[in-house]
Parts: sequence; C-alpha cells; structure tokens
Amino acid sequence: MFDNLSDRLQGIFSGLRSKGRLTEDDINAAMREIRMALLEADVNFKVVKEFVASTKARCLEAEILDSLTPAQNVVKVVLDELTALLGQSDSKLVLTSRIPNVIMLVGLQGSGKTTASAKLAYLLKSKGHSPLLVACDVYRPAAADQLQTLGDEMGVKVYRGDGQDPVRIAEEGVRFAIDNLRDVVIVDTAGRLHVDDAMMDEAAAIKAAVKPDQILMVVDAMTGQDVVNVAQAFAEKVEFDGVIMSKMDGDARGGGALSLKQVTGKPIKFISAGEKPDSLEEFHPDRMAKRILG
Ligand code: GDP
Repeated sequence: MFDNLSDRLQGIFSGLRSKGRLTEDDINAAMREIRMALLEADVNFKVVKEFVASTKARCLEAEILDSLTPAQNVVKVVLDELTALLGQSDSKLVLTSRIPNVIMLVGLQGSGKTTASAKLAYLLKSKGHSPLLVACDVYRPAAADQLQTLGDEMGVKVYRGDGQDPVRIAEEGVRFAIDNLRDVVIVDTAGRLHVDDAMMDEAAAIKAAVKPDQILMVVDAMTGQDVVNVAQAFAEKVEFDGVIMSKMDGDARGGGALSLKQVTGKPIKFISAGEKPDSLEEFHPDRMAKRILG
C-alpha cells in the first residue's frame, strides 16, 4: 500500500533537493507532479485539488523559498498537509462509562466486518476488557460460524441467539453481557454486496434498539476512492462515528484512505492489515504520513 505514491514523492523531493535554491517555477512544477502522483494513487479529485492548492500556497511563502534548506521545508509542508488529510490527531477508541459499552460494526459484505469485529474484541481483551461478540448477520449462514471460530481462536465469547431477527439477537446479546459481566459488546451486523435500503433499515433498527455508544464502519482499502461513496451513503442513514479500514496489507493504491476524512468528515480509527488476531491497529495519521513520505 502507498508504495507507488511513496516512490513518486521521494523522486519529486530528491529533484528539489538537487536544485539547492528553489524558484516559484520549481515549486509549481513539483506541485504538478504531486498532483499527478495523488491522482494516480486514486485520491479523490477534489481532495487532490484542495491539497495541492494549500500545499502550494504554503511552499510559496518567502520563509520557505528564502530559507537555507528550501527543499527540506517543502517536505515538511507536504508532511503536515498529508497528516491533516489523514485526520490530524489520533482518534482513539474511547469507551464511555456505560456498562456494557456497545460498539456496532456496519459495512458492505466482504468488507472485513466479521474479521474486524473479532480483532477489535481481541484488542480490547488485551487491554483488560472482557468483550462479548454478537453475531447479527443472520443471512449468511456461515457468518455466525466464522465469528464463532474467530471468537474461539481469540478466547472471546460469542453470542449467537437462535432466531432470525437481528434486532432481537442484538438486544439479547446486550442482556447476556449484563448477566455475564461483559463490559463491551461488539455487534457484527449483516452487510450486502451493494448499498441498499434493506441493509440500511436493518442497521438503523439495530441502532435504535441497542443504542450503540459507537458505530464503526468497516471499509475495504482495496475499494479505492469508491469507499468514499459507500461511506457517504451509510452516513446518510446510519450516522457512524469512525472507520475501520481493512486490508491495508493489500496492494491498494491508498486513494480511499487519503480521501475518506476530507470527503466524509469521518476519521479512520483503526486499520487492519492481515489475518492475524493482533493485526488491528489504532490509526495514527502522523505515523502514516511519515510512512508515505518514506
Ligand atoms: P464481512 O463480510 O464484511 O464480514 O467480511 P469478512 O470479515 O468475512 O472478510 C472478508 C474476507 O476478507 C475474508 O476472507 C477475510 O479473511 C479477509 N480479510 C478481512 N480483513 C482483512 C485484512 O485486513 N487483510 C487481509 N489480507 N484480508 C482480510
């Protein structure tokens, strides 16, 4: 992920470093190249436009152009702007004082929701919580089994219920957590292949029934900037708090991750990079921006 973009940016910066002093033309040429590199990384067009405009304006300031190390300062500006694009500050998962805390995961089928639910439970368990996973995907018969297998692997209890009503299962799950002293409930909901009303209505009904403290939307990094459209569609029906971006270990170009915050206003809270239980990490915009710049 981001490999191509990193290579391109490093090439642009080493071109600037080799020049010593920089003129306005040098900055303009570099910004054109950055623009191309971001578009090729599948970043949303509007996001690219705004990013380049603000980066350019800052790089053209006299204190950068007339400084002793202009190229280094340009790199610093790009780093700052990339960090801002990715969400600026860390958006840690903060649990409220309500017990049990309810976290609901939504997203399209195949986005990595079930895997992320289990990994989130594992992460919370490693921090001393006692989570409960609730399997509300009643349509894909294998979904509850998959969650059960993952829960067993991670030593986390899974509540499956026996009916076909996801709202009831979610409510029962919360009650089960209260009766069995679990302090966090993670509700894995059903997804569909495309955004549709039935999926949204169901998510909204579960939300109304269990009043989650937090709703996280799982998006697949491989979807590119289309994640932005999916996230916007969800945001209209089921207001969510943040995003878990899955499959960051794949060879996605990174456009989705770079566009999401600016277009939807929703922060990336976690990234998932792999199949192992501990491959869910809190997202740090500054660290990711530094990684992209290499
Ligand atoms: P759901 O339909 O949204 O619940 O998606 P699943 O959790 O079943 O995930 C769909 C597929 O993606 C499964 O084969 C997962 O093993 C895989 N997967 C999920 N997260 C990741 C990840 O971070 N990296 C990789 N490489 N694969 C993942």
